[in-house]
Order: sequence, then structure tokens, then C-alpha cells
Amino acid sequence: MRLRFAPSPTGHLHVGGARTALFNWLLARRSGGAFVLRVEDTDRNRSRPEHVDAILNGLRWLGIDWDEGPCFQAAGAERHRADALRLLAAGRAYRDFTPREEFERARDAAVSAGSGAVTRLARRLAARVPPADGERRAAAGEPFAVRFLVPDGETAWRDLVHGAMRFANAEIDDFVILRGDGTPTYNLAVASDDADAAITHVLRGDDHLSNTPKQILLYEALGRPVPEFGHLPMILGPDGRRLSKRHGARAVDAFRAEGVLPAAMVNFLALLGWSPGTDEELLSRDELVERFSLERVLKKGAVFDPAKLFWMNGRYIARMEAGELDAALRRALSRAGVAGDGIALGEEAFARMAAALAPRSRTFAEMVRLARPYLGPVREYDAKAARRSWYRDPAGAAAILEAVGDRLEAVPWEAEALEEGLRALAGELGVGAGKVFQPLRLALTGSPASPGIFDVLLILGRGRSLGRVERAVRRIAGES
Ligand code: GLU
Repeated sequence: MRLRFAPSPTGHLHVGGARTALFNWLLARRSGGAFVLRVEDTDRNRSRPEHVDAILNGLRWLGIDWDEGPCFQAAGAERHRADALRLLAAGRAYRDFTPREEFERARDAAVSAGSGAVTRLARRLAARVPPADGERRAAAGEPFAVRFLVPDGETAWRDLVHGAMRFANAEIDDFVILRGDGTPTYNLAVASDDADAAITHVLRGDDHLSNTPKQILLYEALGRPVPEFGHLPMILGPDGRRLSKRHGARAVDAFRAEGVLPAAMVNFLALLGWSPGTDEELLSRDELVERFSLERVLKKGAVFDPAKLFWMNGRYIARMEAGELDAALRRALSRAGVAGDGIALGEEAFARMAAALAPRSRTFAEMVRLARPYLGPVREYDAKAARRSWYRDPAGAAAILEAVGDRLEAVPWEAEALEEGLRALAGELGVGAGKVFQPLRLALTGSPASPGIFDVLLILGRGRSLGRVERAVRRIAGES
């Protein structure tokens, strides 16, 4: 199998493009075939080199590697032109000398007459120029467009996703393949490039369905083998409408910046229109390569649910190995502007913090937020939690925290001793453990929710923990 991904560099790599790339890549890797990358930069006005970079970087980040390319469609313009002229010479296309504006005016008048109007019009106008005149005018340098002569009959193929598809050729206009300025049009360039690269399977979005019969007709007219085609279901927003800017973030980069892991993104994209046939949701890249099949590509649109992506990402974060996790968190911190001296934790405490926060974080952006109180001072105390665990009985809470401070000074600084010490203290004070842990948690982190309190103590270390307890006592007493 020879597959390809053919992005137009008119924007970032979006979820839809990434999904198309991934499905092609999975098939190539599964079949041991080749995956070709072709940048469709023929739209000179909208194509930008920085978009090419963004798309390639997005693919690299996802781990979607290519075997050939990237090649650039614009570089094939000579070949596209030669193909168009070959069709012209073979009588499968014809010259159209009518200036574009004139044609468009006549077309607008004719189009209300119904389908086939454009073709009838184009042929009528072309018939006014006898072949010998056409040759002469062309040789004299007069500009002309080349239109494909759509044959009678119908164009059918067995779609890899949708099954039998057929289009009546009468519904297909004699489309332009070479413009008056000599540049090839989209469908000609795609068919010519796919034929040139010996692509065997074209998998792309449903939005290309109406291009496929035109391209099949071109392959046939050029005498090239017609590849198989499969059209992937549209990606929908939660409102059931086609995913668009309206629905917020769609660029893969945006999810990367939020701290989504490539493995989670790949897993999530694979399930946008494909199902493993079981209710499994977490599938590694290798499992996907092993199990992906076109038979399980769904026909109906796939709903893009960012909450599911974040949930999945959380599962991936929770499964990361310690070294990997530390490194990823340090990268995320440095992206957030926290690095070096901003990280007032030793290696061991840092690793403990990362391990404690991993199961509570759906993204690294979230983990960075949760890490703040361990990296620098507590800047504010959650007001609601403070009312509940400090200010209901300020004197009582302050007394408990003072006793906690004394105990923390005395016990060995390790998990078991800390737990024993604080539980014993609760017993001595005649209160439940929560009455000790909640005010303490707030003092240490500023928040009512955190990893286990003993983990928090071990991450902060004795000195900083005591400092925070003292500061809380002063705060409760209204002194700071
Ligand atoms: N360049 C087209 C796009 O970005 C894809 C063309 C194709 O896959 O045939 O939509």
C-alpha cells in the first residue's frame, strides 16, 4: 500500500487534518507500506511557509513520520501542464478561449437552467472555434483555458468507508484543468501527483467526496491505474455541526500548549471515526498500528469532545514513568516561565510532588497550576475553606495548628512517623483527624484539596512546613 497525506499549508494542523494523517499513517505502518507527505501549496495566495513548518512540526510531535517527502505540489506544475496538454492532444479535453469574465457572465445566466448548463455552454462556446483556428490562436500566444471533456455515463467506485458510490457524469461540469495563465487546477494537480507517486489508497475527509469522480475520470483519461478511495466521516462539534472555529480550539498546537501528551492525542484522534470493536478506550500507538482497520471506520460523523481528550490525557499522565514525568513537568514549568531558582525543591521532593500531582492532573498546564504552592509561597488562602476550617472557631484552629507545629518539630521527617505523630496528636486533643488535617492542609497549600497531607509535608520539608503553620496561626489571629 502507498498512502499519502496532502495538507494545504493555509493554516495550522487541525484536528481534522491530523486525524486524516493518522489514519493514513496507521494503514501504512500496519501494512508495511509507504506513507508519503505532499504539501499542496498550489494556492499561492493562501499558502505560507510558516504553515508548512507548523504542519510538519505538528506531525513530528504526534510521532507521525513519513517515508517520502515532503514534496511540494507547486514543484510539479510542469508535469501537471504536460498531463493537461496530453489530454488535449488525445481529444479528452478542449481549449476554451472565452475570456473568464465573459464566460462567468454567460454561466451565471445559464446556470439557473439547471445541471449540465455549464458543460453545454462551454461546449457551445468552444465549438465556435474550429480546431485549425484554435491551433493557430494558441500558437500565436493567445491565452486559453483547458477544459476536461466529461464523457457520458457514470463514474462509480467502491469506497473503502462508504461502499458503492456512483455519480452521473451529467452532474459533473466540464471542469477547467489548466487556467488561462497556464497554471493547473486543483483536481488535475492531485490526480497527476497521486498517479506520479503511485499512490494506491487515498483516504481523506468526506469534504472531498465530490472531487473523487472528477479525479477518477482524469486517471482514466490519462491511462493511469485508479487508486482506491476512502472518505472519512466529518468531525462534528458537540452541537452536531461540522467542527469549526466556532467550537474553539481545533489546532493540534493549542492542545500541545495545554500540556496534552502526543500519545493521548494520537489515541484520541484514532477514536474519532474508528472503533476497536470493543469498549477499550486507551490504546497505545503500537496497539493502534496492530489493530487499525478500514472495516471499523465509521460512516457517520464523529463528535469531538475535548473533555474526553483531557480525561484520556489524565490517564496517560498517571501512567508515566517517574523520570519521564519529572522531565515533562520541568518542561511545562519552564514553558510557564518557572525554571531554575523558581523551583525551590530538591530532586527528591520534586519527584515526590510530580508523582503526587500526576493522578490529579488532566494536563500539564493543570499540573503546573497545582504545583504552584510547592514551588513558591502560598499567595492566598481559599476563602471558603478558611471560613470552614479556620474561622468557625479561630481560637480552636489556632491552638490545633500550634500543637501541630510543636509535633512537627519533634517527629522524624518521614511518612510513617508523621502520620503516627499527627494521628496521636488528634487523639490527645480529642478531635477527629480531619480537624487537624484540614486546617493544616489549608496552611500548607492555601487550598482545601491537595495530595495526601503527609506527601505535602514531605514535599515541603520541615522548615517550610513549620514556616507555613506559623504564618497561618498569625493569620488566624489577625496579625498578618
Ligand atoms: N489538500 C487537500 C486538503 O488539505 C487534501 C487533498 C487530498 O487529500 O486529496 O484538504
